[in-house]
Amino acid sequence: MIQESIKKFVIVGGGTAGWIAAATLGNIFRHSEVEIELVESDDIGVIGVGEATIPPLLTILESLGIDLVDFIKHTQASFKLGIQFDDWHTIGQGYFHPFGTLGRSIDGHDFFQCWLKSKSEGDDTPLMAHSPESVLAEQGRFFLPFEAQGTPLASTTFALHLDAVLAGKYLRKFAEKSGVKRTEGLVESVSKSDKGFIESVTLKSGVEIAGDFFIDCSGFKGLLIEEALETGYEDWSEFLPCNRAVTVQTENMGDTTPYTIATARAAGWTWRIPLQHRTGNGYVFCDKYCSDEEAVETLLSSIEGEPLTEPRVIPFTTGVRHKAWSQNCLALGLAQGFLEPLESTAIHLVSKSLALFVRLFPTAECDTQLSDEFNRRVRQDYEEIRDFLVLHYCTTQRDDTPFWRWCQQMPLPEKLKAKLELFKVHGGLIPGTEELFQPTSWYAVFDGMGVEPIGYNPTLDAIDYHKLKQSLHSGKTAIQTSAATQPSHDEFLRTYCPA
Ligand code: FAD
Repeated sequence: MIQESIKKFVIVGGGTAGWIAAATLGNIFRHSEVEIELVESDDIGVIGVGEATIPPLLTILESLGIDLVDFIKHTQASFKLGIQFDDWHTIGQGYFHPFGTLGRSIDGHDFFQCWLKSKSEGDDTPLMAHSPESVLAEQGRFFLPFEAQGTPLASTTFALHLDAVLAGKYLRKFAEKSGVKRTEGLVESVSKSDKGFIESVTLKSGVEIAGDFFIDCSGFKGLLIEEALETGYEDWSEFLPCNRAVTVQTENMGDTTPYTIATARAAGWTWRIPLQHRTGNGYVFCDKYCSDEEAVETLLSSIEGEPLTEPRVIPFTTGVRHKAWSQNCLALGLAQGFLEPLESTAIHLVSKSLALFVRLFPTAECDTQLSDEFNRRVRQDYEEIRDFLVLHYCTTQRDDTPFWRWCQQMPLPEKLKAKLELFKVHGGLIPGTEELFQPTSWYAVFDGMGVEPIGYNPTLDAIDYHKLKQSLHSGKTAIQTSAATQPSHDEFLRTYCPA
């Protein structure tokens, strides 16, 4: 059987998505004849936000052979152990969603069930006392887990806060070293074959760039996937109504928290993302309940330190492209879909999509069985994250503004409804192997938002409760003791990544 392989990839767009794609494909094909060309327009520029990440980013860096210290230095990154959610349940109440797992199973019983059992016996130890990330975050400390082998902190999981523009530049250098060609120019038109495949893009300068496979990383508009191929977009505003964000950067006030802060506000929520050289701030809001002027005022009155930039408003529509892969075109990043950055999932979706594409790698014919499977899985990922985001809103007890009153009676996606019901009745969730947010993430939000199950797994009644209590107590104490000996996050950054 003769297979016509892809000889040239054309990537349109040089934002985070474009350069991650270029770095990944460049790395795969560095010793082959396959050409990769990336086109980006300096006039349009990049969106320049997207500063909080989740742990799988470290796996991408590792798979590309990128040195963590070098990357942190060049992107002014700081470490992230999770997200502090303030005022979501009620004003004045906060909770922490840590990366990583909670506690350890006891006598083969799931840790969360053990904690529920102990709680029912009158133990009031907070769930988060059993999370190394949460305890370290509370104390403002950080260290590298692989340097703490044999301690209860060895399982600590972390990600980075990074400067998105610097990260793009870093990845560009990396990709160019592996042979990716960069062309500056504005794509003005797209040519298609009779069967609807993209054949080439033409720049304003008149230069035509042909290819076998095109990757659309052109941002929200989806220059190829939407404007040329008209794949359509599924709007999910009925579940996640926030549709604008205002952003501003401020100076770093010297306390680089090893976590993101997401604070619920009158018509949405604000983020605070500390980097080494500055802090990123933004207000994600719904324009039905808040004007741009009000949003700017809310954001500016919530920041610490002097603004370094003018406030910038970014409109968006939550949802996903009907087909993220259509014909010989794959859409990544904002061109693929958008879920608000509450759990910092966008950059992860870029790399997860790329990994899936590589697993389902096509020949030049682009068999639709591959793209159908790809699209099914991408949609599943988006739905899973969407439901987890909705959970943060629909469980609120706030009724102080029309926005929060709407959230209390919002429509829920069917799968989320079922998951909530299962948790309430059973007290636990079954992990899904392909899911990004494992049960411990859901438990963190359930617990923080006061969603309580009616009981725990009855098998826990067969356990020696005295032994269980001791085990929980010693686990908690060991985390506290080990965390207290670690350096502050700022100290750690200074020694690990000296300027
Ligand atoms: P862009 O950065 O918009 O890049 C588009 C590229 O296409 C540019 O290079 C542009 O020049 C090029 N282009 C466009 N049209 C043409 C043309 N005609 N010709 C040539 N080139 C063209 N993600 C996270 O993971 N964590 C976060 O905390 C986070 N926060 C966010 C906050 C907000 C408010 C928003 C809107 C997004 C956030 N994201 C976050 C998402 C993240 O910013 C994006 O997923 C990521 O930056 C990828 O963007 P992109 O590369 O798809 O698009």
